[in-house]
Amino acid sequence: MNFETLGLKAELLDAVRSEGYTTPTPIQLQAIPAILDGRDVLGGAQTGTGKTAAFTLPMLELLSGSEQAPRKGRRPRALVLTPTRELAAQVAESIDTYGANLRLRSTVVYGGVGINPQIDAIRRGVDILIATPGRLLDHAGRPTVDLSKVEILVLDEADRMLDMGFIHDIKRVLKYLPPRRQNLLFSATYSNEIKRLADGFMHSPELIEVARRNTAAELVSQVVHPVGRTRKRDLLSHIVREGDWSQVLVFTRTKHGANRLAKQLMSDGVSSTAIHGNKSQAARTKALADFKGGKVRVLVATDIAARGLDIDKLPHVVNYDLPHVPEDYVHRIGRTGRAGESGRAVSLVCPDERIQLKSIERLLAKKIEVEEIPGFTKENIPAGSPRPTSPSHAARHGHGGRPERSYKPKSTGGGRQTRQTRAGASEGSSEEGAGRKKFYRGKRVNSQTSGGSRRSSSRPSR
Ligand code: AMP
Repeated sequence: MNFETLGLKAELLDAVRSEGYTTPTPIQLQAIPAILDGRDVLGGAQTGTGKTAAFTLPMLELLSGSEQAPRKGRRPRALVLTPTRELAAQVAESIDTYGANLRLRSTVVYGGVGINPQIDAIRRGVDILIATPGRLLDHAGRPTVDLSKVEILVLDEADRMLDMGFIHDIKRVLKYLPPRRQNLLFSATYSNEIKRLADGFMHSPELIEVARRNTAAELVSQVVHPVGRTRKRDLLSHIVREGDWSQVLVFTRTKHGANRLAKQLMSDGVSSTAIHGNKSQAARTKALADFKGGKVRVLVATDIAARGLDIDKLPHVVNYDLPHVPEDYVHRIGRTGRAGESGRAVSLVCPDERIQLKSIERLLAKKIEVEEIPGFTKENIPAGSPRPTSPSHAARHGHGGRPERSYKPKSTGGGRQTRQTRAGASEGSSEEGAGRKKFYRGKRVNSQTSGGSRRSSSRPSR
């Protein structure tokens, strides 16, 4: 099967070819014809499956089929809602890429940056608006955008939007839209809440599911390294250096933990930077650019900040802390093994995290291979010191000594040694969790101006 058989016009096929894609991914094969038919589509697909092109290509085809002079005024014909700024920027970038040979205009709006350049960009005329819900409602309420002519609505990563408490915002956005329109919803998981949401606004949607429910990307090899909590940072430095890893995304549960770890890795001689919700948009964009451009080896991120990041061919993901929500594990490891590339997800699991590990394994319906790295499995506690009793204690007291033996990562996860069966209690509050609502409701972080380009006037820097 190739792209030529899907019913897309030459301008789109040329753009797809320029990206080097030869074969449509499964979600593209199924979704593109259904969307071109004008059907509502409910797509079950995780990031990394090629879902962005799956809705962007037919959307561009449909909009350009009835191509008109770009509208003056603020009436987009397509609206793409995403949970995060980064995802909004990435979708906008994809629309830009695939639509390079068309005369459609797109603009992205999200919070945390100045609203005036966005207002100007919309006023100049926009066919496709990509937005996060809070900022979109701000525009719609002023009103600096008119959503009454939207023909196609896309909810991307709808499960995430619900997790982040956007349900009411989504319902408010729906009220601004005309009743007759095509609806596309993409979600990595199908909860009852997603079903309820879809039932509320979609019309006999075509159900397309390419990943099994809650399954981890199949190309990702997963391994657990048991580790003493106070040894995590040493182990991480060790595996990054010994494995000569040049690009690794590391997840921590908290923003503070992300900052601290990035600093500690730097002092270990491993170039690192952190990305999380307390950083200004400019700092986040720079951190991502440095990581993508190979200036830093390690990007330390919280779940929310990392959500939707599209980093091509990311070879390694490390769970420095296991997430409290098992589904986040699936999202995290979805950063690697993208669209045909193989990847490796490593989890550093200390005794306190046994419960989280069990929940993740229950969700995956499989045990994750355990590989012990000798020298790192036990706490390194100087004689006479009290044993750390909590992660926060451990964190305050830093790290241990040097490893006993060097580590060579295996490409397909061999070296099974022992199952992890440690006792311990789950703990910890998530700073990121506490900050979610605040941050995504458009806390002012930074002001960024945007210039006017033909198609993507309020696009952040790439
Ligand atoms: P997404 O699931 O939309 O986040 O896409 C994941 C990655 O797959 C992106 O980096 C795309 O550039 C890439 N991609 C999308 N479609 C294809 C395709 N047909 N062949 C190869 N790579 C693709």
